Amino acid sequence: MIDFRSDTVTRPTPSMQQAMATAPVGDDVYGDDPTVNELERWSAERHGFEAAIFCSSGTQANLLALMSHCERGDEYLCGQQAHNYKFEGGGAAVLGSIQPQPIDNEKDGSLSFDKLEAVIKPIDPHFARTTLLSLENTINGKVLPLSYLRQARQFTEQHGLKLHLDGARVYNAAVALNVDITEIAMHFDSMTICLSKGLGAPIGSLLLGSNELIAKARRWRKVLGGGMRQAGILAAAGKQALTENVTRLADDHANAHYLAEQLADIQGFTVKPELVQTNMVFARVDPTIDQNRLVSRLKEQDILLSAGNPMRLVTHLDITRKDIDTFLTAIKQAL
Ligand SMILES: *Cc1c(COP(=O)(O)O)cnc(C)c1O
Repeated sequence: MIDFRSDTVTRPTPSMQQAMATAPVGDDVYGDDPTVNELERWSAERHGFEAAIFCSSGTQANLLALMSHCERGDEYLCGQQAHNYKFEGGGAAVLGSIQPQPIDNEKDGSLSFDKLEAVIKPIDPHFARTTLLSLENTINGKVLPLSYLRQARQFTEQHGLKLHLDGARVYNAAVALNVDITEIAMHFDSMTICLSKGLGAPIGSLLLGSNELIAKARRWRKVLGGGMRQAGILAAAGKQALTENVTRLADDHANAHYLAEQLADIQGFTVKPELVQTNMVFARVDPTIDQNRLVSRLKEQDILLSAGNPMRLVTHLDITRKDIDTFLTAIKQAL
């Protein structure tokens, strides 16, 4: 299969399988799993936080962050396009009694500080209490500049807000900027990382933050049914993801750029390769092309795409340059 639908489709690498097969494990709800404990200790230190908690998904990690920063009746500021507003089933409101206050994302994925300032609520019983600003990096494949992160930190300090990063793909941002991950992480009170996207682990995300925040998150994780037992099997793969699969993200970015350049030459597809910053390509597809038919034709050749306009194509660990060439040949034939 050549699967462009998402970078969540990656399979564990042989070294991950080996690590999973031999991981020492224990009951993590009792704090007894040495592999989980080691991943949490190591990742906190690696990213410059006091503590970390291993979670079953990025959605859970974001929800734990929101529920640990905010009380019932608080609100968080975020983008209309934010995953933890738009794509997580309204979990903060449903399960946390936390009100989202979304504002439009700018073209580059950032949030305007003027627009944010205008929606911060006065301290008054009429209003929810504005507690947190949540950013996302990368957002739709776009990288937030370091200068913007510095401004965000200043903004939140000035307004007494906490600052969270949904960093599902934060390593793609770090690799694209060619900086150490701590250059991004240092600005935030908390950060999530998905181990199961481009980094290639089968399952798992991390939430990083202060000791106090992570202690709260640990309680909420149990409440939400996210306490896992011999989770070291998964944590072992997660550690491999963070140690072995980071620098190769540059290959995914180069492949995405190549894919965009080649697609731009195909009639009916409009792509701007210069807008590709990480591992995502967005292509406008001419309405005369029957996308559903195209998708099913390619599926017959073991190539998977998601229909959409723009159509999103994602590169990852299990897509090589040769796979992209195979896809390009197949799509030209199908058209
Ligand atoms: C995928 C993703 C998540 C959630 O991850 P799941 O593991 O699928 O729950 C959160 N934020 C962003 C930006 C994501 O892309």
